[in-house]
Amino acid sequence: MGTYNRSPLSFVRGDGAWLETEAGDKYLDFTTGIAVNSLGHGHPKLVAALQEQAEKLWHVSNLYTVPEQQALATTLTELTFAEKVFFCNSGAEAIEGSIKTARKYFADKGDNDRFEIICFGGAFHGRTLGALAATGNAAYLDGFGPPLPGFKHIDSFDIKAVKAAITPASAAILIEPIQGEGGVVPVPFSFLRQLRELCDAQGLLLIFDEVQCGIGRTGKLFAHQWTDITPDIMSVAKGIGGGFPLGAILATEAASAGMVPGTHGSTYGGNPLGMAVGKVVIDTISAPEMLEAICQNGLALKQKTASVIDRFPDILAEIRGEGLMLGLKAVIDNKKLVEALRDQKLLTVGAGENVVRLLPPLTITLDEIDIAVKALETACEALQAGEDMPENAEPQNLGKKGQAATT
Ligand SMILES: *Cc1c(COP(=O)(O)O)cnc(C)c1O
Repeated sequence: MGTYNRSPLSFVRGDGAWLETEAGDKYLDFTTGIAVNSLGHGHPKLVAALQEQAEKLWHVSNLYTVPEQQALATTLTELTFAEKVFFCNSGAEAIEGSIKTARKYFADKGDNDRFEIICFGGAFHGRTLGALAATGNAAYLDGFGPPLPGFKHIDSFDIKAVKAAITPASAAILIEPIQGEGGVVPVPFSFLRQLRELCDAQGLLLIFDEVQCGIGRTGKLFAHQWTDITPDIMSVAKGIGGGFPLGAILATEAASAGMVPGTHGSTYGGNPLGMAVGKVVIDTISAPEMLEAICQNGLALKQKTASVIDRFPDILAEIRGEGLMLGLKAVIDNKKLVEALRDQKLLTVGAGENVVRLLPPLTITLDEIDIAVKALETACEALQAGEDMPENAEPQNLGKKGQAATT
């Protein structure tokens, strides 16, 4: 179906931070399949884990005990607030399951009228009908019938507005600690803390969508670990599989109390192939020296980019974000910047608020960061000289609320 504005560019192999075309052209990948290839392309440990598991067993379903699931779930619970894990295959499914977990928590207590989820403007939670209703972006909802009921949207990170939106039907608050598609918009820690306090005071559940900002992106295994608070439920996907389709719902024992046999399921969820890969991803990224390197390299990329911004104030406005989840706000149309960077063999992806996202593999080196910054400089020089200004650039990114999309 014609659902994507695809670039004609295509790749036949990848190695670390590099993608190669059939013709042998190499591109530096600062998109990583939208924050998915967390360990880069062809990581030897991931390849070995997948090959080894592929020779043993691919799939048995959740009719049986899957030891690989138990192993990954144990690791995830040891490293986070969570006591329970449910495995699925994508971000939207992790969101759907998180919403179901929250609603069931109340239904289980006989509180069937408490089902409403409070969400935020600029959010992105996925494309299934439920996740879309949580996203609440008119551009994605249009044409698909009435949005599912049970979602409310707040347009700013304003605790008074959240309080005012709470009714006896409110069940949970759902938020990305750093909005990804919305334009790499970090939510102030103070606001996350206020949400936690509000949820505790009013008996609501707090759900974090860490599908994009989780799995080491910000230099902590999960973005909220920069704060002193934790959610009750968390949606995870993208980087956790390093390229293998994998998602997870993490929750406290209390929040997941309603999820008893028969309440939820997935045929593929938690299959041995995905589990084998996910275990290596988490073990590798959660190592303190890895997270430290992400912080250091993220800082280097941010600082070097800032010095390019200083030189080209008519093209670039700002660099923001944490670790290796950075957003470069453009002055010019961000899709023109994405194209100019692609001309310099640097792959990036647009986001809301006229931002270009820089999402390199978490294994990126300082040398590769220098190559990327050089490509940015050269792209800006070309743009300034009036070259490489494609007249009919393909729509590449999504706007804040109500424009076209990438994902
Ligand atoms: C990408 C994304 C999703 C949806 O994930 P899919 O795997 O595309 O379904 C949900 N939430 C956030 C924050 C995302 O970035």
